[in-house]
Amino acid sequence: MGDQRAGGISWTDETWNPIRGCSRVSPGCGGAAGVGGCYAEKVAGRFCGPGLPYEGLATIGKQGARWTGEIAFVREHLEDPIRWARPRRIFVNSMSDLFHEKVPRSVVAAIFGVMGIACHHTYQVLTKRADRMRDIVSSLTLDECIAATVDLDAGVTRAQSKRIKEALPAGSPFLARSEAPLWPLPNVILGVTAEDQQRWDERVPLLLETPAALRMVSVEPQLELVRPDATWAPDTFIAPIDALKAAPGLPVIDWIITGGESGPGARPYDLAWARALREQCDASGTAYFFKQAGSNATDGGAPFRTKHHAGKDPAEWPADLRVQQFPEARP
Ligand code: SF4
Repeated sequence: MGDQRAGGISWTDETWNPIRGCSRVSPGCGGAAGVGGCYAEKVAGRFCGPGLPYEGLATIGKQGARWTGEIAFVREHLEDPIRWARPRRIFVNSMSDLFHEKVPRSVVAAIFGVMGIACHHTYQVLTKRADRMRDIVSSLTLDECIAATVDLDAGVTRAQSKRIKEALPAGSPFLARSEAPLWPLPNVILGVTAEDQQRWDERVPLLLETPAALRMVSVEPQLELVRPDATWAPDTFIAPIDALKAAPGLPVIDWIITGGESGPGARPYDLAWARALREQCDASGTAYFFKQAGSNATDGGAPFRTKHHAGKDPAEWPADLRVQQFPEARP
């Protein structure tokens, strides 16, 4: 099994970037000068020259690429998922953070509107701004989202406008006002990144307060041992699938992804941390996904070296970590 999926991200099929630009917010975004860092920022740095897509959004300096903190809404990419006929997993905003403070609420709503319209896909939304995600998602409705999508139609080409209007009645059972719940969208997985225990303890409770059909936590790049159950009773946190069936609506984590940092200056990653998370997931019936060993892993106290520069080849992993599960839709 190789890693040929979108942007080298093995847990998705496609990336969709209607927003560009971000700013660093916590250690997972990068350490001191030259240490690890945001992959999107590095990519943006390569394309920040005059006339290029990230002009004004990133700069190149002595410390390498850096976000400027500016955000751009890329209108022409808003409806990409509507055009994609084959159902797929779509990672939303791999080159930004949908809940960055400079992304207007109306734009967040329009992006959710597209996710409701193009409902043949499964969307994966990850943020480090868990408080803003909770606040916005808690207060949105699908009607508002669809209206925001259509509003942003103004000023675009007739062909673009026609595609959105055609998609509304045909592509979205949510618009039929059936008995099915309209919100949260059943085809959207909402999640937070929790690169260390502090970020887990801060962001995961906010995620659990966020209306979501499914919830994910990306523990990547994992920077230390993270214990999901350190502050939460297991029966109210990562609940077994059976418990979910018995208690629909109980806020739980459905999916955990882990991996080590890659690239020059990658910070250490102990495979024991990955095993600890796997044990938690096994015990609770939570889907577990080991993404990569990274470029600076250890196993049993010894360096864990791989031929693949980022440790992404499952054939090189210990057998007990060759686990790449996806969450199941809740009944
Ligand atoms: S939040 Fe994500 S995209 Fe933004 S700087 Fe941090 S790692 Fe990069």
